[in-house]
Parts: sequence; structure tokens; C-alpha cells
Amino acid sequence: MDSQHDDTPRHFITEIIDGEIASGRWGDPGDASVVRTRFPPEPNGFLHVGHAKAICVSFGLAERYGGACNLRFDDTNPEKEEDAYVRAIIEDVRWLGFAWPGMADPSAGGDPAAGVLFASDYFGRMYELARGLVEKGLAYVDEQSPEEIRAQRGTLKGPGTGSPFRDRPASESLALLEKMKSGGVEDGSMVLRAKIDMASPNMNLRDPVMYRVVRAAHHRTGSEWSIYPMYDWAHGLEDSIEGITHSLCTLEFEHHRPLYDWFIEAINRDNPEPIHHSRQIEFARLNPSYIITSKRKLKQLVDGGVVDGWDDPRMPTLSGLRRRGFTPEAIRGFCDGVGVTKFNAVHDIGLLENAARNDLNRRAPRRMCVLDPVRVVIENWGEHGEADRVEMMTGINNPEDEAAGTREIPFGGVLYVERDDYMDDAPKKWFRLTEGREVRLRYGYWITCREAVKENGELVELRCTYDPLTRGGDSPPADAEGRVRKVKGTLHWVAKAGAVGCRVRLIDRLFTAERPGKRTDEFMDDLNPEAMRLLEGCRLEPNWRTTGGERDAGTGVWSDGIERFQFERQGYFCVDACGAVDGVPVFNRTVPLRDSWSKSKGK
Ligand code: ATP
Ligand code: MG
Repeated sequence: MDSQHDDTPRHFITEIIDGEIASGRWGDPGDASVVRTRFPPEPNGFLHVGHAKAICVSFGLAERYGGACNLRFDDTNPEKEEDAYVRAIIEDVRWLGFAWPGMADPSAGGDPAAGVLFASDYFGRMYELARGLVEKGLAYVDEQSPEEIRAQRGTLKGPGTGSPFRDRPASESLALLEKMKSGGVEDGSMVLRAKIDMASPNMNLRDPVMYRVVRAAHHRTGSEWSIYPMYDWAHGLEDSIEGITHSLCTLEFEHHRPLYDWFIEAINRDNPEPIHHSRQIEFARLNPSYIITSKRKLKQLVDGGVVDGWDDPRMPTLSGLRRRGFTPEAIRGFCDGVGVTKFNAVHDIGLLENAARNDLNRRAPRRMCVLDPVRVVIENWGEHGEADRVEMMTGINNPEDEAAGTREIPFGGVLYVERDDYMDDAPKKWFRLTEGREVRLRYGYWITCREAVKENGELVELRCTYDPLTRGGDSPPADAEGRVRKVKGTLHWVAKAGAVGCRVRLIDRLFTAERPGKRTDEFMDDLNPEAMRLLEGCRLEPNWRTTGGERDAGTGVWSDGIERFQFERQGYFCVDACGAVDGVPVFNRTVPLRDSWSKSKGK
């Protein structure tokens, strides 16, 4: 097929589009660049990982065919929408790495909102088209209350009842519609309805509401309008005005498609200037385990102070995932891997975490950071030179990429290791520190634990000796009988000399249940109280900033400028958006090195 990016995944929608391009449904046969899609968020919250899928599908298809995808705000509900959400959504789509027509680069002084479209810009056109339907006898103003209208809708088994205003003259409806529009009637006192079929088996076709009166200020149009269009009426028109070929949405809109089509056909009936008719296609939502993808519920977490805002690193929002250190590449890879189908399913969140591990493993510079430090004193350090001397060791920056080079790490007579790398009376299979046992310090020396010093039962210091013949962590030379000493454990460490104090936030899943809320109907019951643990007084090696050599090799180079690392044996971490507090750098753990959840479930 004539497509620009054959590496993007194929699925049932590409099958449909390929067929249409071949037959020339949207333009010249064979011309793939006619494909126009859109991503239409409502600016009533931040985007979450579910939206990432919708973005990957619509923008991804436009990329694949060499067409275009619009970023259009479906801002038809003034009471719930805000400009702050608009700005956040624009940033998130850009961060994921997609481009809409007319997009400008804010880092080069461009307007971040350049090229972004708004449904509210079409309100005037929509109103004209609505008047046209009234004139044709295909819409009417209903003066009943919302309760009365609801009571007349009927049931799935039985037909509804027609409104007493259903057959009023068009001139009456037009006059009332004008009054509704200009603020002359109370909220909820009348609506404009399409005149379709009160007996339709599809409830969406039983004279659906097109406009309601809401006398609230809109974040863009101010008090210009006192009526706002309903989703079903507005959406197809937005698509039509923009010349969208494929209007892709989630499965819950399947039963709205007949209405989507009815509105356009009604407008085009006996119309010498028919409007463009886009094709709506539905696909399954992304529904990952252990998270929620409802903006309403996410807003509850924010408003209730359960989390520190939409971009809290525990949140499944794109801004939360970004702050936690997830890369756009990992999120896109996850969405591509889940695929595009017509079947609703739950997707293992572990797949997203693994996508992050795989991406970060390739690109993250390695560093050593001790999260819960205990002091190690090397008793014989002074016997082999000055007692306060510091030796520089050489660490490999990225074993996945030789070109990333090395860095210098100081080693001295006082070090820090992890508290839980020591155990009293350890069993034979314990390959870390215990009295009398030897371990390798990565890139450092081999040390043997001689004594654990405790105060009030708490470990305060490990007295150790080192073997000067193991420099760089190498095995010592063979003894006179040709035997080589071996150790099984390798520990990370940081020398006291030059150590950088830092704070580390260990981020875990926000919910402990695979389906939050399933057990008790209240999703907050499944909150994970340990989803974020702050560790203070962690110790990081001094040369932790990414070096030029690493960057030349592509290690530690990130499209979003966020600094990410692998802290050896601990996982992947990023510098938090705040950078540092009082000069102390703050890191977030994106994911541990291994998936501890599936392990604990397997027990
Ligand atoms: P919510 O129900 O959380 O408010 P929404 O669907 O109302 O979400 P919109 O801003 O209207 O939010 O969504 C914009 C687009 O994103 C829509 O086309 C919608 O179908 C799609 N979308 C939303 N959630 C998901 C999801 N979990 N998986 C895939 N697409 C989604
Ligand atoms: Mg929606």
C-alpha cells in the first residue's frame, strides 16, 4: 500500500483506510496524503495514559499515511473547562512527540497554541446549521423540563412519547432558539431537539437534545453564548468543518454513530452545498490494570488532596508519568504494543513499566547512589598510603553503549553502603556483608567485614579491611598454589569524600488492586498508602551529571531534557521537576530494575 511509515503497526483501521485510498473515496485513488484525523480532548482535566493511546492512534495514522492530525479542543461545556487544562494538554501532546499542522516550537519563541483548533470557534457555523434543520422541520424547541423529557424517552423495550412541542411551527422554534441563544431564558427551561424517531430502538435517535441553555462564561467565548451544543450535534460538525476523513473514537460511541451520520445527512438533504461527511470508526479503550483512567476520578484525587496535583508522580496522567521519569518513547511503545482492536480488555500495567525499563536500559547513564546509607570504615586504608587519601576509580557509563565512555569515582577510607546489604549471623547463601565475609565493591576494591558496630541495637558502622590487590574490583592474583579467591556479591557504594546528599522518592503503583474500586465500589478504598516514600540523606557519587562523552554517544540524551539515570541495583531514576530543594537534588524512582509486583503475586 502507498504508505509513508510502514513500520507503524497495522490493524483493522489501516485495513479500512488502505481500501478507501485504493478506491479513491476521499480523493485521487492511491493518494494516501488525504488522510485527516484529529485528537479531540475536552479541556476538563489533564490527559491520562488512556488518552495517550487515542493520540498514538490518530496522530500515528496521520504520520503513517503522510496526512495530518489536528489537535482540537472539544470545548463545549463551559462549566467544567479551563485554560490551564488547555495549556497542559498542548504540552502533553507535544511531549509525546507528535505534531499538528501549524505547530510552533515554544523553545524557539513560538506560540505553544499555534495551530491548535477549538470547537468554540465553530459555534457560529453550528448555530446556522441548526437553524437550517429547524427550517426543514428536522428540529424544534422543547419547553419541557429535563425531567419531563427524560420521562418520555421510553425504555429499551418500549417506544418513547413525542413532546407536545414536537410539531410546533418552525417560525416559533426559530424565535425561541434566538431567545435561548441571547440569554433571554433560564438555564434548563428549554432545549433544541432533533426531530428523528421517538420509537427508534436506538435511544440516541429519540429526538436527542442539540442545544441546552447554560448561562455561564466560557473560557474562550466569554458571555457571547448562552446556549452550548451537545456532543453528538457538535462533534460531527467539527469533523466536517475541518475536513476530517476518519473520526476515530472509543467503543462507547458506537451507538452514537447513527446519530453522527443522521445529523450530516439531515443537513445535506436537499442541500445544493452539502457539507463534508467524515467516517466515524470506534476502537477499544486502553484500560490498564492498577490505575484509573477517568478524569472525573482523577480530579477527585487532586481536589481531595490525596495527591499533590495532576502532575504528582503517582498519577497515571501523562504529566505525572513524565514527572516520574517515564519516557515518551516508552509510552508510545506500550500503546503500539497493546494494539488497536474492537475488544475491550484489561491491559497489564507491567507492560508499560517494562517498556520504560527497556528504553531506559538502553539510554540511561549508570551511577551509584546509596539510598539508606551506613558508614564503612576501611581499617587498613592507612597502611597502604596516606589515611585520608582518595583514589579515583573508573566506572563504565553505559554497558549497553561502549561509546558512552567512563567516569571517575572517588574511593576513600570511609564509604557508604546500603544498610540492608549487611546482615547479622547471615546464612551461607548471603553474598553480601556479614562479619568475616568478603564482597566486591563495584569498580572499587574487595572488602571484608570485620565488625559491625551498634549503638542501642542499631547498626552505625561496619569496620572492614580491603585488599589493595583488587583495585577496580578485579580479582586478586592467584596464591602460591594457583588458587584464585572468589566472591559472589558485588555491592554499590559511595565514598564519603565528595558524596552528594540527595532526596529520593520511591514511587509505586497508586492502587493495590488490579481493578481499583471493584471490591467495594469505592476506588479510594484501594489506594496504596506506600505509593510514595521519601528518603532523605541518600548519598550519590559526585560526578553524577551527564558528561559530554555520554551525550556524544547518545546516552543520557532525552527529547524532553529530563535527566534520567540508572542507579545501580536500585532502578531507574530522574531528576524531579523541582530540580533541587535547598540545594539538595531530588530524584524520583521511575521503576525498580525488576518487576516486584508479578513476583509477589506469584508467591
Ligand atoms: P474521561 O471519561 O476520563 O473524561 P473522555 O473520553 O471524556 O475521558 P476526552 O477528553 O473526551 O475524555 O477524550 C478525548 C479522546 O480520548 C476521545 O476521543 C476519547 O475517546 C479518547 N480516550 C479517552 N479515554 C481513553 C482510553 N482510556 N483509551 C483510549 N482512548 C481514550
Ligand atoms: Mg469525552
